[in-house]
Amino acid sequence: MMRNPTQDDLAPIRESVRALCGNFPGEYWRALDRKRTYPEEFVTALTKAGFLAALIPEEYGGSGLSMTAAAAIMEEIQACGCNGAACHAQMYTMGTLLRHGSAEQKERYLPAIARGELRLQAFGVTEPTSGTDTLSLRTTAVRDGDDFIVNGQKIWTSRAEHSDLLLLLARTTPREQAKSRTAGLTVFLVDMRATKKNGLTIRPIRTMMNHATTEVFFENLRVPADAVVGEEGEGFRYILSGMNAERILIAAECIGDAKWFIGKATAYAGERVVFGRPIGQNQGVQFPIARAYINMRAAELMVREAAALYEAGKDCGAEANMAKHLAAEASWAAADMCVQTHGGFGFAEEFDIERKFRETRLYTVAPISTNLVLSYIAEHVLGLPRSY
Ligand SMILES: Cc1cc2nc3c(=O)[nH]c(=O)nc-3n(C[C@H](O)[C@H](O)[C@H](O)COP(=O)(O)OP(=O)(O)OC[C@H]3O[C@@H](n4cnc5c(N)ncnc54)[C@H](O)[C@@H]3O)c2cc1C
Repeated sequence: MMRNPTQDDLAPIRESVRALCGNFPGEYWRALDRKRTYPEEFVTALTKAGFLAALIPEEYGGSGLSMTAAAAIMEEIQACGCNGAACHAQMYTMGTLLRHGSAEQKERYLPAIARGELRLQAFGVTEPTSGTDTLSLRTTAVRDGDDFIVNGQKIWTSRAEHSDLLLLLARTTPREQAKSRTAGLTVFLVDMRATKKNGLTIRPIRTMMNHATTEVFFENLRVPADAVVGEEGEGFRYILSGMNAERILIAAECIGDAKWFIGKATAYAGERVVFGRPIGQNQGVQFPIARAYINMRAAELMVREAAALYEAGKDCGAEANMAKHLAAEASWAAADMCVQTHGGFGFAEEFDIERKFRETRLYTVAPISTNLVLSYIAEHVLGLPRSY
């Protein structure tokens, strides 16, 4: 088990991330945003520097860093104005393989992912009809000799076009025959290189921000039985355990976004002169910035708490959910404040604020929406009756 690093220990990592991000300024992201193009050079640079292999243990060629360190990497990327959503899934999807995959699967995939030869960026859980109600998903995988045959559809499968591997959740036992409410779903590690023209179709969805998200269709897709991760029928449990890592890392990204918005607003409030004085001299401008800072710092503490529990191997479901909730609310409030502080310039593309505003909006909806976090806390922490 890793020692919980202090924030001082992380200063060199933060500095290296900042140095790398310095090569990808606002112009780079603006140009991609206009065309909705994937930040290939940025992702390659992060991969080469080893940042995306932060959570892969050293024995498989990764850096073997803690969740706290991984969170610091994602936070720094966002705080520099870059967009880690292009590649953040590699950090958290890999955990499912690491915890539940066979020795053979880990040997086959983890070193290649760590070397940057393979990308595990895609995570196929959400479906158009079931939405948040994952247990109602309809994609099926039916055993046929040494293979499974997959049929169905996923939606919002981000980065599928830019990933070699897809972590897929599908139903292998019909719901009415499953031994429990949560049983009967199975996780597969699908090698999309072999299947892209053979039963798997990816269709991009254009969204309000540059996110490379897609719909994925499976039509009699043959997946070998050795692609099953862990035990057949236990996939829901595996996916849930992986979601804590996802929530913590995305919460850290929101903290980075909030820091970026607060930094931008503070600088602008100090230099923009209206009525013969800096706008930041007015408390009506100062207070929203100070409030955004306070909210960000409070959320940051919860993110650190969740990360520390995660790496100590303790249950962190409540803290991971609360961290995601607080951080997403803090980044969205900071985004709104930053636009207001900039007045008209908040809407100008060249200030990058409107781009980051659109990008950070996602996180009160995905990977889990605010209502579902509140529902989790109400039921699992406060013991209120289950509502769905
Ligand atoms: C850009 C983007 C990228 C994404 N990337 C991925 C990805 O890579 N892989 C993946 O699997 N998924 C991905 N998602 C899906 C994302 O996790 C879901 O959109 C999110 O969890 C919400 O689910 P939904 O869209 O189906 O909303 P729904 O489940 O249809 O819910 C709609 C609204 O109703 C509310 N609601 C639903 N049920 C209840 C209830 N019982 N009580 C109170 N409120 C309720 C929800 O909070 C939400 O606000 C992505 C989504 C987006 C937009």
